[in-house]
Amino acid sequence: MDKKFRLSIWYFIIAFWGLIILQEIYFAAQHMDEVSYSQFKAWVQEDKVAEVSITEKMIHGKLKSQNSQDSPQWFQTVRVDDPDLVKLLEEKHVEYAGVVVSTLWKDVASWVVPILVFAGIWFLILKKLGQGAGGGFMRIGKSKAKVYIENDIPTRFADVAGVDEAKDELMEVIEFLKTPEKFTRIGGRIPKGVLLVGPPGTGKTLLAKAIAGEAGVPFFSISGSEFVEMFVGVGAARVRDLFEQAKSKAPCIIFIDELDALGKARGTGPMMHEEREQTLNQLLVEMDGFDPRVGVIILAATNRPEILDQALLRAGRFDRQVLVDRPDRSGRTAILAIHAASIKLAPGVDLEKIAAMTPGMVGADLANVVNEAALLAIRRGRETVQQHDFEEAVERVIAGLEKKSRVLSQEERKRVAHHEIGHALVALSLPGADPVQKISIVPRGIAALGYTLQLPTEDRYLLTRTELENRIAVLLGGRVAEELVFGEASTGAADDLQKATTIAKRMVKDYGMSEKLGTVALDQSAQPSFLKTNEPLGAPTYSEHIAQEIDLEVRRMIEDQGSRVRELLSTLRPVMLKGAEKLLKDEVLSGEELKALLLSKTKEEPSAHHAETRN
Ligand code: ADP
Ligand code: MG
Ligand code: ZN
Repeated sequence: MDKKFRLSIWYFIIAFWGLIILQEIYFAAQHMDEVSYSQFKAWVQEDKVAEVSITEKMIHGKLKSQNSQDSPQWFQTVRVDDPDLVKLLEEKHVEYAGVVVSTLWKDVASWVVPILVFAGIWFLILKKLGQGAGGGFMRIGKSKAKVYIENDIPTRFADVAGVDEAKDELMEVIEFLKTPEKFTRIGGRIPKGVLLVGPPGTGKTLLAKAIAGEAGVPFFSISGSEFVEMFVGVGAARVRDLFEQAKSKAPCIIFIDELDALGKARGTGPMMHEEREQTLNQLLVEMDGFDPRVGVIILAATNRPEILDQALLRAGRFDRQVLVDRPDRSGRTAILAIHAASIKLAPGVDLEKIAAMTPGMVGADLANVVNEAALLAIRRGRETVQQHDFEEAVERVIAGLEKKSRVLSQEERKRVAHHEIGHALVALSLPGADPVQKISIVPRGIAALGYTLQLPTEDRYLLTRTELENRIAVLLGGRVAEELVFGEASTGAADDLQKATTIAKRMVKDYGMSEKLGTVALDQSAQPSFLKTNEPLGAPTYSEHIAQEIDLEVRRMIEDQGSRVRELLSTLRPVMLKGAEKLLKDEVLSGEELKALLLSKTKEEPSAHHAETRN
């Protein structure tokens, strides 16, 4: 979009210079000596003039050439009211003609030509932006050129792999598009907008198409960045047009790719900003204005949900979000199988092995790996693609990716696996901690190397002291596991420590949960501002001495939990090692699997059982 804008500025500059040059040429061709009327008359008297043409205001003429090689010399002079002139010209046998329309023509031309040139350039720009095509100025708002309508989409769910959870969630959307009556009869609420969230290349666009394909409905697609044009109001008109078209084709799907380009808060320039806001507003208006029962479902995709305008996520808009995550090992095997189906594999190619080599890769990367492997085989003049072609292709693709994002080394992955198992084991062992749903070491950007997903069984408004202590313990589990297995901690636990410290601080300062400092709320900064006295904002309401005590108390609390966790994980060491090994292999582990591991191990070793009953 930025590029487009710059492009059209270039058009203007080139057109401007073109005009100036054109004008120069026009006048240069016209160049004549400007002479006085008396000089002109003298030339006539002296028999030097060959011919003249007389217009209302001017007299143009040509001098007789001295010899035939000379180019004729032209001159002009302002016409004076001189009744004797014609007589004089007759006398001297000068050819003369009265030209009336000639100046008029020139006047008109000098106005019309630049206008035509400008109009032409304007038209070209519009066409370049894909609007003016075949319609002229009146169709700026028509989005025909930009909205891609596809009717018989061949993509099916079977073409998308490794995103089973997202598929499950999207089944309902397909059901609705297939048989809207079934839903409307019961009066159930139908989703209006579904937002597909996930890193680039995980198959969001592919999924959206597969939904349309499975449901057998038309698919309107448009990219958020295409909405944002340099002309204010065009984007909004397009949104209106898009919805109009879609409603007439219901049931159907509207897919807005790169929603963040449209829905983000900050702009690149003042012009862009206003345009985006208008477009965004129009989208919100359209989404609010239509009844989902007509059978139009709006899908959108983004890889940056955090920068989206909150208004987009409100109820009745994109209120349902579906995570399209990076695939785990078995998911990657399935994706490789899909893409490898179109190439000839040598017998003995082990896609599982390739999948194990490619942690963190997304569907697009894997499609790339298969393609590279095929190219390598062709380059070597082979008929089929062999295992080592794949292995080399993986290396190539990783080399390309490493420039963009870091790929974890084997040593780092091992550490991350033990760290996450540490969190999970503590959470599983402590009564009252939120149950562990899933443990994953599929890399996801720089922020988190792995994660342990704990789902609360119910919404909690009140937490007891024990529960808070357990939370701190779970947070420390990762770091302690690293210490136990590798002998020292790493920077990977920084975020955990921060969270644990925040909890401990609030326990001491806000909840009065420290015996030492007593049942006093020490931090008053959480009060609403109208209750505030004239104290400066954020100033502590306690003495320096108390501040020191708070720090000590926070430290003691965290250290207490730390030693508790250390003891717990030491007794569970065999489970921890076994679990980490399994996690390294599979990349994801369900809470159930780890629990089974924990139970079988503790049965083998009665001493561990003893440790568990202590909690
Ligand atoms: P996104 O929209 O999430 O950036 P795309 O849907 O455009 O990703 O994916 C680009 C290409 O990568 C697809 O056309 C497909 O070939 C491949 N691909 C991505 N994800 C998957 C997947 N889950 N299963 C199969 N192929 C995939
Ligand atoms: Mg996409
Ligand atoms: Zn952690």
